[in-house]
Amino acid sequence: MYDIGIIGGGTAGMTAAIYGQRAGKKTIIIEGGVFGGQITSSPNVENYPGIASVSGSEFSMNLLDQAVKLGAETAMEQVTGIRDEGSVKVIETAGKEYPCRSVILATGVTHRHLGVPNEERLTGAGVSYCATCDGMFFRGRDVAVVGGGSTALQDAEFLSNYCRKVYLIHRRDEFRGEDSIVKRLESKENVEFILSATVRDIIGDQAVERLIVNSKKTGKEFKLDVSGVFIAVGQIPKNEIFADVVKLDADGFILAAEDCITSRPGIFAAGDCRTKEVRQLTTAAADGAVAALAACRYIAG
Ligand code: NAP
Repeated sequence: MYDIGIIGGGTAGMTAAIYGQRAGKKTIIIEGGVFGGQITSSPNVENYPGIASVSGSEFSMNLLDQAVKLGAETAMEQVTGIRDEGSVKVIETAGKEYPCRSVILATGVTHRHLGVPNEERLTGAGVSYCATCDGMFFRGRDVAVVGGGSTALQDAEFLSNYCRKVYLIHRRDEFRGEDSIVKRLESKENVEFILSATVRDIIGDQAVERLIVNSKKTGKEFKLDVSGVFIAVGQIPKNEIFADVVKLDADGFILAAEDCITSRPGIFAAGDCRTKEVRQLTTAAADGAVAALAACRYIAG
């Protein structure tokens, strides 16, 4: 029996494990993908207090190392559901069951797709949702990044170091992401902003060959020859399998306030998966701490 079963091994989940272990609780983190979550895709994190600059993968490896050294257990498994048996919550996976006194949902978010023709068919053949994972395949070639948030800006900056040309396509004429990165991109000769424009189609037989882009400024369509397109248009939650145990909002986020308490006693929600205003590394870490301490109080009755 675990005191705290944590579903999701991103920043929120691993911080919850650190706080749980330090409070003397037996914790397990169950992760279905990559420990570290979405920050592992960030080439450079520059806004975590006390750490001027660190790669997302190093940051998450340090977190995992810290949690494991404190005694947290880990499992690489896809969770299929939670069974609430009152004082025991059973986390179910394809082959196992994990009985826990409390559960923290820290499932994060997943990449939003553009929803244009050929996007799914050409994923892995020029369409990518992770510049740090796939960028090197496009060394010396022309690519496009779609989006206007911090992820798109970071992706464009990362790719500009390897690619011949990087087009940054954004649907509005101002970026949502950090101004400091916009300024750095403006000074790069191989980066071109295509603003107030949307991608209408991705063209290619075996692999991406070009994009059809619609300019809102001119009202005209034009072709853009690229070998790769990196889609960074935000994140969506993935909480459907928990809809029978906790209440979700209309967009699928788990209804929980800053106290991380959900509609179900003993089940808490931490990080990007819950309803909140600011989804940042710092707020994910803060949620991990809040949720773990709330779980400790719940266990103590
Ligand atoms: P985001 O901030 O939600 O930005 C998504 C971008 O995609 C927006 O510019 C949005 O346009 C655009 N977009 C959304 N749907 C679109 C569509 N269908 N077609 C075209 N464009 C579309 O997402 P994010 O950049 O992934 O960032 C997520 C969170 O993580 C943010 O809070 C961000 O600050 C944080 N983050 C932090 C770091 C770090 O280093 N600490 C790194 C990356 C991200 P509009 O602007 O017009 O809405």
